[in-house]
Amino acid sequence: MAKVIIIGAGGVATVAAHKCAQHPEVFGPEIVIASRTKSKCDAIAEAIRKTVANAPAITTARVDADSVEELVELLRAHKPELVINLALPYQDLTIMEACLQCGVNYLDTANYEPKDVAHFEYSWQWAYRERFEQAGLTAILGCGFDPGVSGVFTAYAAKHYFSEMETLDIVDCNAGDHGKAFATNFNPEINIREITQNGRYYQNGEWITTKPLEIHGTLTYPRIGGRDSYLLYHEELESLVVNFPTIKRARFWMTFGQEYLTHLRVIQNIGMARIDEVDYNGTKIVPLQFLKAVLPNPQDLGENYHGETSIGCRIAGKDKEGKPLTYYIFNNCSHEAAYRETGMQAVSYTTGVPAMVGAMMFLTGKWNLKGVRNVEEFDPDPFLEQLALNGLPWEEELNGDLEVDKIK
Ligand code: NDP
Repeated sequence: MAKVIIIGAGGVATVAAHKCAQHPEVFGPEIVIASRTKSKCDAIAEAIRKTVANAPAITTARVDADSVEELVELLRAHKPELVINLALPYQDLTIMEACLQCGVNYLDTANYEPKDVAHFEYSWQWAYRERFEQAGLTAILGCGFDPGVSGVFTAYAAKHYFSEMETLDIVDCNAGDHGKAFATNFNPEINIREITQNGRYYQNGEWITTKPLEIHGTLTYPRIGGRDSYLLYHEELESLVVNFPTIKRARFWMTFGQEYLTHLRVIQNIGMARIDEVDYNGTKIVPLQFLKAVLPNPQDLGENYHGETSIGCRIAGKDKEGKPLTYYIFNNCSHEAAYRETGMQAVSYTTGVPAMVGAMMFLTGKWNLKGVRNVEEFDPDPFLEQLALNGLPWEEELNGDLEVDKIK
């Protein structure tokens, strides 16, 4: 048993906390939840007490995770084995810094982004490699679904099926309906920054940039059907092409409905997606942060959310005997089932469950590499076994039509 501190008290943290509490044999006898707004941590603790039998004790605390000093104080007071960082990507570096100062291991689900530039890449966090290694500590980066399970799926394909992976297409479909005219499924600020930036994919050793949402086409998702899927840049592509150098082309696709895209276009055209400060009656505000305040809270979408998400990896290459192989590994997750169990919709669920499983892998010694690591560097087998047991069963299809080459 080992103590973890979960930082953040949003949708993803709510799911991860529920899931950790379901495993007192790993995450016990106490779990700490700390965030900027303590009342939100208290609400999670209360919900767990009501719904999870034999849950460990839950302690809550307030912390501003932008402050290394406050974080160090928190870690010194509670002495955890591991921090599960489920705040925002802006806090990754301050939390890693505090972990180093206090000798604590680290796990997150999204790579660092500076607040004032909508740009994300691993270089900032990879720069900590030597310091974590020298301290004998582990930092597990990007352990949600995508990034996260997408990397583990790729590692699993490489381990069990391929001698050489040539193309990788990560496909992310949300076929759910929450009944709102416009809402984002996770933090609106982070979500809109991600979608409105240029697309980017990897081909023959080079990164190719596209205009935002320029390339799209229909892909068929299991038990869902055809959905318009858009090429986006996504952070796991950066580490996967390094860790699996036979990959010649790596892309990421996400589905969006026309209604969502129309709203997004209006938001951009009227300047509400801006991330620079503007003066409003003598007060400085960032339009995108203001927009977040008036949009539906992603945590409140769960109640009326119907339908499923479907996220997976479509991989082509040569099998262990050198023969051509196509492989599709995916999970479908029901919004209703996620809500019944944790009070959150499937996008938070599919991120919070892998965060718990990654933490479990580390605490039980199954993932034991030191230093700053991406998830695909670890053994995928025990992770995928636990993922399936903890609400996210996955399926495989061999030598089917991957469809991805039809989109030009
Ligand atoms: P939310 O906005 O719902 O929650 C974020 C939480 O972090 C809030 O409780 C917020 O506090 C807290 N927080 C923000 N700033 C600070 C700070 N300075 N100090 C302390 N706490 C802070 O986000 P989600 O739960 O939707 O997402 C959480 C993380 O998961 C994000 O990094 C997101 O990018 C990532 N994610 C990853 C996915 C994947 O598949 N890998 C998919 C979806 C999300 P307050 O309540 O006071 O605002």
